[in-house]
Amino acid sequence: MSDSDTRDRPDALRTPIVAVLGHVDHGKTSLLDKIRGSAVSEGEAGAITQHIGATAVPLDTISGIAGSLVDPDDFDLPGLLFIDTPGHHSFSTLRSRGGALADIAVLVVDVNDGFQPQTEEAIDILKRTGTPFIVAANKIDTTPGWNPQEGEPIQASYEAQSDRARSRLDENLYEIIGQLSDAGFSADLYWRVQDFQGNIGVVPVSAVTGEGVPDLLTVLMGLSQRYMKDQMAIDVEGPGAGTVLEVKDEKGFGTTLDVVMYDGTIREGDEVVVGGMGDPIVTEVRALLQPKPLAEIRTEKRFDRVDSVAAAAGVKIAAPDLDDAMAGAPVRVVRDRERALVVADVESELAEIEVETEEEG
Ligand code: GDP
Repeated sequence: MSDSDTRDRPDALRTPIVAVLGHVDHGKTSLLDKIRGSAVSEGEAGAITQHIGATAVPLDTISGIAGSLVDPDDFDLPGLLFIDTPGHHSFSTLRSRGGALADIAVLVVDVNDGFQPQTEEAIDILKRTGTPFIVAANKIDTTPGWNPQEGEPIQASYEAQSDRARSRLDENLYEIIGQLSDAGFSADLYWRVQDFQGNIGVVPVSAVTGEGVPDLLTVLMGLSQRYMKDQMAIDVEGPGAGTVLEVKDEKGFGTTLDVVMYDGTIREGDEVVVGGMGDPIVTEVRALLQPKPLAEIRTEKRFDRVDSVAAAAGVKIAAPDLDDAMAGAPVRVVRDRERALVVADVESELAEIEVETEEEG
């Protein structure tokens, strides 16, 4: 690489990676669907992009959904990337350089059910990985006497409720705040939280009516901007780093990897090191694949081939020799670095994952 290459490479702010966790049936999938649906109905073709294993919601779309809650001029992060595979079992194996792959998490709690066993498990994982999170107190529309306010911010929605419905909801919300406190977290309704580093914000939402979804996106965006900006500054052109979400057989491509890239760029033809069941796999990227836009999904080919992908993004990697690759393992582009060093890096990261897995088991 020439000198000018290194000198001119600008650092860019990447999209924060968001994971959605919580007890089964508390509404993780519905909430992701609602966010995707709201983004689509915001109009602008191509505003929301479906990645492999993830959904990218750009800042403009977030501000469209959030209305007056978000002024795009206040932000310089490009948006949010939601990992599509909800569930904390996958979350616990999704690491990036010793931390969690997700920069921030949404813990979904059914406002009527409160904490359940998998909520506790998710909390333990969030604690252990030190992942900042907010709580989505979901299903507020099931509060008896609720008067639904489709897609509205929570304040407007509150104002439209009877005293009785409002106080019922409040009771449930304070129950959850108490449970968070029992788990060792100081928490409050998000609009009362001044310092999000020391306190967990609770956002009342409905994944069915979309009430509170503007607030949820606003809080995620605000937290990322305020506390994670430094972390989001990456060398976009640098050798890419990512984490395997899934190892999949794909017709015409053989064994492929669904990967979330959190750093740098990966290009077709790059030499990559991938964590495997035995020694790390050293291989070469044959193709990088993105899902076709929904409108074209009827065509035979499900994927578009792209030359390169920059973090943060989800991508499918086709390459030889991937049979022993495993979910949760690191992927590293070698490029202008010493291959042996990259292999050693991947090996030490794998060793770390194995220790964790043994501790859990
Ligand atoms: P997951 O297992 O956490 O992904 O939960 P799902 O998203 O599959 O939701 C479980 C059930 O709860 C489904 O029947 C959803 O339609 C329902 N549900 C999810 N969110 C809401 C909500 O905000 N309000 C209502 N009324 N139902 C919801």
